[in-house]
Amino acid sequence: MTASNDVSRRHALLLAAGGVSAGTLAVAGGASAQEGTAAMTQAGTVGAADTFPLAPGWRRFQLGEATVTVILDGIRPGEGPFPTFGEDQTQEAVGTLMAENGLPKDRFVNFFHPTLIEIGDQLLLVDTGMGEAGRANGMGLLRQRMAAAGHAPEDVDVVVLTHLHGDHINGLMEGDAPAFPNARYVVGAEEMAFWTSDEAKSGPRADNAKAVEAKVVPFQDKTTLLADGDEVVPGVTARAAFGHTPGMLAFEVVSGGKRLFLMADTFSQFVVSFQRPQWQVRFDQDKVAAAETRARFAAMLADEGVPIVGYHLPFPAMGYVQRDGDAFRFVPETYQSLIES
Ligand SMILES: [Zn+2]
Repeated sequence: MTASNDVSRRHALLLAAGGVSAGTLAVAGGASAQEGTAAMTQAGTVGAADTFPLAPGWRRFQLGEATVTVILDGIRPGEGPFPTFGEDQTQEAVGTLMAENGLPKDRFVNFFHPTLIEIGDQLLLVDTGMGEAGRANGMGLLRQRMAAAGHAPEDVDVVVLTHLHGDHINGLMEGDAPAFPNARYVVGAEEMAFWTSDEAKSGPRADNAKAVEAKVVPFQDKTTLLADGDEVVPGVTARAAFGHTPGMLAFEVVSGGKRLFLMADTFSQFVVSFQRPQWQVRFDQDKVAAAETRARFAAMLADEGVPIVGYHLPFPAMGYVQRDGDAFRFVPETYQSLIES
């Protein structure tokens, strides 16, 4: 499906930004999530009931002539952000930073956001969410919410994988079948080399290597391996963002003079990642490289005023980076994108 450039349609798209329902975070995994699962068995159909938190769970932005649709695959409330974020700090230090930002000290919510990009005549899907594995816990909503946003799985031309962790690749298969049957695939060359290596298969991350074997390797013949600076399609370029994993890629999208960076898991907690970019993150495989990547991108994004989508940032996962003393802060998208500049 290709976006029309018709002005009234553009307005409609802007106004179609997925709203926030009255659902509360506390119901995730509870009765409401089960209702939602029941709804999903009939889903795939536009208009199917979506009773999950933050339903309808998608939001659409114009970027020049391109259209970007962020989809909330699901949420995961739990303890934290310490020790996942600020692993090298004390629980008290992390809790204090949370309280200073008006957030609970020891509970947080993680978000998962695959993103669709319509650019030229191509439909790209960046990352695929939890898939079937997440459904018992109210996640894996990508397909249902794509349908609600007007996109069939068959419409996806390119599946772009930022990196090969389970929460990004599990949605590649639906049952034993490819979830996006007409797509080709792109993934970082170094990322693929690591996860298919003996080191990965026999090390502490063997489980994830097994998931890569099951979900990604079957598509090898349809997969293009990317290096830093390679183009996926005209207007979408890979940018090395190594550290979280050995070959993670961010993607720069350029259309009609506008730019957007899809930052994958570079910034995964909207306070800690920006205000304390040096603090270590448990899931960063090379913690020093990941911190360097965070600081380098944050400085560039702040100085150049480029918006981002961060896979794990709060819905709608889009926002802006500003300098704040020696560090940064994240300004979430509210109405900035609705104003033509
Ligand atoms: Zn992730």
